[in-house]
Amino acid sequence: MNANPGQTPGQGKIQTVLGPIEPAALGPTLMHEHLLIDLTPPPSLLAGGPAQQEAEITLCNCWGISNGQKSYLKNYQLDQIDVAAEEVRDMMAAGGRAIVDLTNGGLKPDPLGLVQIAQRTGAYIVMGCGHYVQAYQDPANHGRSADSFAAEMVGQLTRGAWGTDIRAGIIGEIGCQSPWTDVEKRVMRGALIAQSETGAAINVHPGRHPDQPAEIVSFIAAAGHGVGRVIISHVDRTIFDDDRLLRLADSGCVIEFDLFGWEQSYYPMSSEIDMPNDGARLRMVKLLVARGYRDQVLMSQDICTRTRLGRYGGHGYQHMFANIAPRMLHRGFSQADVDAILVDNPRRLLTIG
Ligand SMILES: [Zn+2]
Repeated sequence: MNANPGQTPGQGKIQTVLGPIEPAALGPTLMHEHLLIDLTPPPSLLAGGPAQQEAEITLCNCWGISNGQKSYLKNYQLDQIDVAAEEVRDMMAAGGRAIVDLTNGGLKPDPLGLVQIAQRTGAYIVMGCGHYVQAYQDPANHGRSADSFAAEMVGQLTRGAWGTDIRAGIIGEIGCQSPWTDVEKRVMRGALIAQSETGAAINVHPGRHPDQPAEIVSFIAAAGHGVGRVIISHVDRTIFDDDRLLRLADSGCVIEFDLFGWEQSYYPMSSEIDMPNDGARLRMVKLLVARGYRDQVLMSQDICTRTRLGRYGGHGYQHMFANIAPRMLHRGFSQADVDAILVDNPRRLLTIG
């Protein structure tokens, strides 16, 4: 099959997995999600090895799995196209129109699976490219140069990704850990080159140190690149004080609160972090809007485990549109604020240019 017959890189268009669309068509968008992913922790991150595994997710164990009391490694695998399509249909019934799937190198990207989900649901799906954090990467990456990563990403954006002719429409999520590793910096340099050549936006997964977003922004600025089309993900598990948040906004990058729906403080990736809830996320978003940074804010859910899907006891992709957008209007946001964050900013950032 050929999802992108005869198209050249779509300047002024948004590149979905079914081909380019006019930006005006996009609609309410989740900018950081995973429809299909394998986020199973590599052995180096599984201290003590896998514990006794639950056989399946049930009403009686889903809270325990989400809160680290029970172990279920398949929770980290989203590999069921039927389930994904049903969850996307729920999102569309709640008012959502588009999803950016940032599953990239190290996370088992499945472009043909995304095409199937897009065809079955009618949702616009935009795919990422490049590589996630080193701990998940193929060891064959470790000796590669920035130019090699850049050429790969340019090809993924202009010809097709992961052995298919399905094109990515955004770069990322580019994985960084703290401390930031050499190979991750080379992937980032490659991403900057690919951005210069294609005009695609970059999404960055920062490490968990509260100063790493600033370190990444400084690195990009020192390389002579602007940060206006660089999205820093996961700010809601990284920055917990207003001063740091406002300083980051002042740098000009795009700030993404993308763990909406995660309401418990337990965070399996780090025992040092207490996760905020949706109310706390909205308070930080409101601060940025009040200080004039509305055009630099994105909101999403970064679903990457089964227990966050509606069919396994979670909130699903629909939560943003069914629950959060209406709640914003009761929290002093205007409809224009909601539209800027869920529609206009995604449209501007996804338009290749
Ligand atoms: Zn992600």
